[in-house]
Amino acid sequence: MSRFPGRFGRWFVRAGLVGCVWACCAWAWVPLAHAAASIEHPGRFLDRTEALETKDHARFVQRLARIHRENPPLSPVERWHLRYLDAWQTMFEGDLIKSASEFRAVIDHSGNPVLVAKASAQLLSNLGMSRHYKQAFELANHLMGSLSTTTDPKARLMLLANLSQMLNLAGQTDLAVKYARMMESEIPAGQPQCHAYFFELSALYNGGGLTSSSREFRRTIDSCVDAGQPLLANAARLTLSEQYLDEQKPLSTLDILDRIAASVNTIGYFPSRLSTQVQYAMAYAQLGQDDKARKAALAAVAMCRPDYVSDWLTMAYRLLYQVAQKKGDSATALRYYKLYVAHDKQQIDDVSARALAYAMARQQVLAQQLDTERLSKQNRILRLQQALDTKAVENGRLFIALLLMALLFGGFWLLRLKRSQLRFKQLSSMDGLTGTLNHQHFMGEADRVLQAQKKLAAENCLMFIDLDHFKQINDTHGHAVGDAVLKRTVAVCRELLGPSDLFGRLGGEEFAMLLPGCPCERGRDVAERIRAAIEAATVVDEERVVTFSASVGVACTDVSGYEVQHLCRDTDAALYRAKRAGRNRVVVSTAGDDLVEA
Ligand code: GH3
Ligand code: MG
Ligand code: MG
Repeated sequence: MSRFPGRFGRWFVRAGLVGCVWACCAWAWVPLAHAAASIEHPGRFLDRTEALETKDHARFVQRLARIHRENPPLSPVERWHLRYLDAWQTMFEGDLIKSASEFRAVIDHSGNPVLVAKASAQLLSNLGMSRHYKQAFELANHLMGSLSTTTDPKARLMLLANLSQMLNLAGQTDLAVKYARMMESEIPAGQPQCHAYFFELSALYNGGGLTSSSREFRRTIDSCVDAGQPLLANAARLTLSEQYLDEQKPLSTLDILDRIAASVNTIGYFPSRLSTQVQYAMAYAQLGQDDKARKAALAAVAMCRPDYVSDWLTMAYRLLYQVAQKKGDSATALRYYKLYVAHDKQQIDDVSARALAYAMARQQVLAQQLDTERLSKQNRILRLQQALDTKAVENGRLFIALLLMALLFGGFWLLRLKRSQLRFKQLSSMDGLTGTLNHQHFMGEADRVLQAQKKLAAENCLMFIDLDHFKQINDTHGHAVGDAVLKRTVAVCRELLGPSDLFGRLGGEEFAMLLPGCPCERGRDVAERIRAAIEAATVVDEERVVTFSASVGVACTDVSGYEVQHLCRDTDAALYRAKRAGRNRVVVSTAGDDLVEA
């Protein structure tokens, strides 16, 4: 018989049932000094009851019965806790189906992470024991996934313990060792490492990675003895004795078995009792003590129900067959051979079922991973699409910005063009020397203003100014002084004109002014003040003071009308009269040629 399935089969029976009690007893950290707690504090009472599950199972059952009998008021958390303990006891009594559904209720509805973790741990053991391997591995996978989000220290330890067990069961011994070691690192300082060491030992043994001198045996046994866990201490010792059998050291096996036999019987844990009995038989067989071997094997067979599946039982049948064959008892040999083959087949079927279930659960995980990868690929595509869209939006924005800049630039350029055109136009409508409107522009503007004023029926005055004997100034002082006199005249006139008055140079030393909204009398006053100001003005030419005067002709719209030509004609006539009258004076046109001298 190959070592591999045998080990797993034996391990499962042993560790599976240890797992059943494990999750409940590992957390017996509640101080038991006050075990006589009053039922008035049901929460504490339940905690202490739970701590007794495997340490003192009889008292555990008593306390459970008491709380049901007294029926104290319980909070929702306490009610779920009690239900969990009831489920635990149901499983302990062997009703795997009922306890499984109760654990599921706690998992689905209690809402308490620690209880959920405990119930999950129990359910995992339950499913393993009832050979619902597929569900067990699916649950194990689920628990593996929930490990990263489980923060409660106790809940984490339970998850790690159960994952280690299930992976060991599935033959994934390296992973099982990994989870056991995670447990070791997470167990609080000062708390016993017994369970974590035991799971590591089981996984290492099943992986074939131990020898009888490996330190893992000693430290597990010592730790479990110190922690007051005789069941686990014995299970570790039985693993060591089995290792001795593997190494063909039957005396060492017998030494261990003799030392623990009494304790194993007292505790009464069936898998340990069966293992002890079969190991006795195998050790005797290795020593050639066939009678003793046969007796021990028969005692082991007698311990089991006919439908009991365990490779310890299979090994007992194989041994009985081998002993009978050696004796030449062919009939007995054949009978045991048939039983051995039948049990071995069942055992192999069980191992295959586990391997298949594990493979299926793995397959589901892989499928989920593939699904996740597909989703993440889709996500990547989506993200790329979004990035592209963002880029497109950015490009769009850039395009709009460029367009705006081009428009702004174009607008700015047009504005500048317009301004320079305006400036050019302005320059072309100005007199270069004096900065007043030139003749043509003045006339155009005067016509426009007069037409507007006509609609308002407002009074307006037009005046022409002609410097007196200007030719003489030029001749006497030079053309430059003549220019200076022209500029000075303009400056003097500007001071006396309003912002809406038009001022132009008609040519040479002749100027024109249109005063919109100005009655004739006021026009006459303005003309007079201009004349006086010009007379008072001076220009200095090489320390000689040059004085000058002007004649002014005025015509008003109330007499001459709004036609610019008529008005100009009357103004010009008035100016002519002023010249003729002796210059340096103002003449206002009154009506037609009938002119009045100011
Ligand atoms: P009156 O009193 O009759 O008006 O005599 P006047 O000398 O002022 O008139 P006239 O028309 O004989 O002379 C005008 C002079 O103005 C002739 C011309 O040389 C001079 N003149 C015309 N334009 C300018 C100019 O831009 N600068 C200077 N310095 N002289 C100019
Ligand atoms: Mg003149
Ligand atoms: Mg003149």
